[in-house]
Amino acid sequence: MTEAQPHFDFDLAIIGGGSAGYAAARTACAAGVNTVVIEGGEDVGGLCILRGCMPTKALLYAAEVMHLAGQAEVWGIHKRELSFNFSEVMARKNALIKEFADFREQQLTKGKFAFIRANARFTDAHTLALLPHQIHSRRRNEASISVPNHRGQKPAGDLPTKLTAKNFLIATGSTFSPSPLAQLNEIDCLNSDTALKLTHLPGSLIILGGGAVGVEFAQFFARFGVKVTLIQRSPHVLHEFDSDAAAELEKVFRREGIVVYTGTKLLDARRSAGQKEVVLEHEQRTIRVHADEVFFALGRLPNVAGLGLEAIGVQLEYHRIVTDAHMQTTIPHIYAAGDCAGLHEIVHIAVQQGEIAAYNFAHPSQMKRMDYRLLTEVIFTDPQIATVGLTEKRAHVRNIPYLVASYPFGDHGKSLIMEARDGFVKLLADPMTGEIIGGCCVGPFGGELIHEIIAAMHSRMTVHQLAAMPHYHPTLAEIWTYPAEELAAKIIK
Ligand SMILES: Cc1cc2nc3c(=O)[nH]c(=O)nc-3n(C[C@H](O)[C@H](O)[C@H](O)COP(=O)(O)OP(=O)(O)OC[C@H]3O[C@@H](n4cnc5c(N)ncnc54)[C@H](O)[C@@H]3O)c2cc1C
Repeated sequence: MTEAQPHFDFDLAIIGGGSAGYAAARTACAAGVNTVVIEGGEDVGGLCILRGCMPTKALLYAAEVMHLAGQAEVWGIHKRELSFNFSEVMARKNALIKEFADFREQQLTKGKFAFIRANARFTDAHTLALLPHQIHSRRRNEASISVPNHRGQKPAGDLPTKLTAKNFLIATGSTFSPSPLAQLNEIDCLNSDTALKLTHLPGSLIILGGGAVGVEFAQFFARFGVKVTLIQRSPHVLHEFDSDAAAELEKVFRREGIVVYTGTKLLDARRSAGQKEVVLEHEQRTIRVHADEVFFALGRLPNVAGLGLEAIGVQLEYHRIVTDAHMQTTIPHIYAAGDCAGLHEIVHIAVQQGEIAAYNFAHPSQMKRMDYRLLTEVIFTDPQIATVGLTEKRAHVRNIPYLVASYPFGDHGKSLIMEARDGFVKLLADPMTGEIIGGCCVGPFGGELIHEIIAAMHSRMTVHQLAAMPHYHPTLAEIWTYPAEELAAKIIK
């Protein structure tokens, strides 16, 4: 007698409707998989749209327009008086975000998959308990379930309390890291969520942390007239990037009036005379910095608390869900993707991981693997900092031999026309074959320019081929030909 197959409500249940979750749902549905997405956030859209990439870049672009307008005299353009209205700056950002979030909500609710508004928690390896989600005030009247192809559940609008699935994808994103100093909890710090809701600018601001979030907000606030002090523990901001790239940004920050302390240790924080005070150790001296507000930018952690993972045997390591290159956790029918799987908090990586997980679930005999050879990171400051593939730091850590050449924007035709003299481009090549193995651009439109090197590395081009490729003149892009030519001359093939 054959054993009866267990019946499940869904083939695939995805916990989290952010970038990774939505990408996985779309991919699974395209493969004909009966899928449900469960989203428990106050608003629908995920971090990137609601409180991450999009709102911060909208504000940074406003700051860049403000900065360029302030520099117009270089080109013989004279303004009478430059001013801004912070409420209007924030209103434009809010309008854009609403548009993006509404579109994502439509994609989720009108998709070919079921969509449930609830917080999910595993009760066993095939069952989720569904708990009421936090409701944002402007959405209180909305239905909490939409079920286009939902088998065996209650009708739309009526929230089930549990569901079962054959497979799962955990895509629950990240949350703020706990404070390394208990005193910081006492003084009510801003963070990247609350800073996006400010109704007026503080006069002065201390930013704790010189990672991507810290440096982007530092320049935004400083360019809108806030007196900013940036405090970083490592010897340079952006400690994962090469130090020449980080040093270039520090140079620009200092020129723009941002006080930058690197190589510090946080000692204390308190309220003092109507302000907030941070005490730090810097070059063997104790320094006290005062400001109206303190911004906590000391990182994020995978959001896995309360999912019941330990009880069902999904392994965690430094808070992140351990996955293999197929995005499978230690329980093979449970996958994880995006920030909750850690390693890289980057939205296109979350999307790619979500797609690979869903593809692998649907095609178990032809599984795809995540490949980080073309890992790209962009910091949207001015100058922008963008890298792909190997940095010199990563090459040293992995003991990978390389040849390197760079060229400054201060000596390049198009950037001189634009008065964008800060920064450089850098290429890393395999010393034997000349294959491009890494690229870095610190400069104007760095996040756009790096895509030429992503394309080159994608097709495994050599520096010889890049140098021989036509580049229009005068463009920013032609700057890549200089390091490519220098390296090609050294690697005789
Ligand atoms: C300020 C800031 C700026 C950033 N800028 C950039 C940038 O410019 N470029 C870039 O590439 N990346 C950027 N990032 C990172 C990027 O936003 C994230 O890497 C990406 O959004 C992660 O997507 P995700 O799907 O893993 O998580 P999320 O988008 O956070 O989605 C997780 C979803 O799961 C839901 N959820 C959580 N727990 C449960 C549960 N138990 N039940 C049901 N639902 C649950 C949440 O409500 C959320 O909607 C930025 C991040 C921040 C904070």
